[in-house]
Order: sequence, then C-alpha cells, then structure tokens
Amino acid sequence: MAQWLSVGKWLGVNVAAGFSGRRGGVSRGAFESLNVGLHVPDRPTDVWSNRALVADRLPVDPAHITYAQQVHGKAVAVVDRQLGGRGAFDHGDALPGVDAMVTRERAIALAVLTADCAPLLLADSRSSVVAVAHAGWRGATEGVVTATIRAMEELGAQPERIRAVIGPTIRGCCYEVGQPVIRAVKSAYRRFSSGAKAPELVRSAGSMGAVMLDLPTLCIHELASLGVHPDHVLDTSVCTSCMGGYFSHRRDNGVTGRQGGFICLKE
Ligand SMILES: [Zn+2]
Repeated sequence: MAQWLSVGKWLGVNVAAGFSGRRGGVSRGAFESLNVGLHVPDRPTDVWSNRALVADRLPVDPAHITYAQQVHGKAVAVVDRQLGGRGAFDHGDALPGVDAMVTRERAIALAVLTADCAPLLLADSRSSVVAVAHAGWRGATEGVVTATIRAMEELGAQPERIRAVIGPTIRGCCYEVGQPVIRAVKSAYRRFSSGAKAPELVRSAGSMGAVMLDLPTLCIHELASLGVHPDHVLDTSVCTSCMGGYFSHRRDNGVTGRQGGFICLKE
C-alpha cells in the first residue's frame, strides 16, 4: 500500500489531504519506490502507476490531480474546471511557471511535489478554499506563502480561519546553508516579521560561516504575519534527510524521486 500521511481531518470536515512517502510504489533504483515526479528520469509508466496508488487515498480520479511545473518562484494559479488535471500524465502539460495553486472546485485535487523543499497544504474549510504551495528557501524568501494566502483570500478565504500543514521537508537538523541563503532569509524576515524577532539561525558545526536553516520555522513566521494563527499550523516534524522513508534531493545528491502533498475538497 502506498505510504500515506493523512492530514485531511485536521484541515477540515470537507477536506481530503495527505503526503505520500517513498514506500509502497513500483519504481526501481534511485526512484524506489513511490516516486510521483514525472520530471525526473524514472519510467513514466511506473510514475503513472504510483500516482494512481496515491489517488486511491483521495476521493478523486488520478486524471483530476493537478500539477504545477514548480520553478522556485511565487506565482499562484487559480485552478478551475478547465485547468483541473493539468500535468497528470505529462510534466510538459503541468502549469508552467507556477509554485502554488488554489481552488474552490470539488473533485479536483492539487499536488505539490518535493524532495527537501517544504510542501504546504492549506484550507479554509468554511469557505471551501484549498491550496498547495512549494516553498524551498528561494520561494519562501520570495514570498510564495504570502502570495498563496492572498490568492486564497481572493476566493473568499479568511486568514483567521485558514489551517495549514507543513509536510516532510529538510529541517534545521540537516539543512546547512551558506551566505547567499542566509542573506535572503534575513531580508525575508525583515519584510514579513513587522518588527517581530526573527528566529535564531543556528550556526553550523560543519562549516565556518554556515547556519542550519529550518524551513518550517520560516513558513510558520510568514503565516503568522499574514494572520494565520500558529495554533492553526500543523507541522508534521518529518525531516526528509535524516528520518528515512522519504526522497531527499540533498542527501541523495540530486538523483532521487519526489514525494507529494495532495489536497482536495470532498464532494
Ligand atoms: Zn534531519
């Protein structure tokens, strides 16, 4: 059975959602076994099988799961009936230039694929608005989380009602970063913390001048600055690099598969 961490109940009564891992699929080698990324050199037929296994955990057809090309930016797509299912069978057909998606459509799922970057699933259950966001250090510091919340608001969501889940991602235990990333993170905090104290960047024991970056902390602070209550943010606390059972781009030297975060409104 496909590895699946269910978070739908926490997000809302009308929401189905969860994160896949790397166990329970059919891919081989570096992609063993539940790789759901079509943009990595795995066999497409195996990826389609894996995506179908994951779709079994959702009340949607695999052809109605929507994927974005994810370019480490902050563009958000509003997924309507027409866009539903884009990228389900071909990466070239996934929504180009997009790192986050929002929808009010039922029976259409949104997917975010990761192998270290932070996947966010979000819902305002009362307004029937759901979203996904792909937040690596670049997207997170450029404001993809802010852009996603704003897009949800435009569809009728209210920040104080939004619940968010941060999925499996590389964390402060494993994510050593150097000066360019540190600078971007500090500048992002200044922009969205409105005077609140930025969380400490823990110095790395490994290399001089490096720090250990905790992507979830960055996301939680940004969400709080937008009016999403910290009690409404669930962090899965899973580290893709050191906890096993997940694909990790950094640990696997770039040759690896992708797990996914998936969300949809129930019929
Ligand atoms: Zn770790």
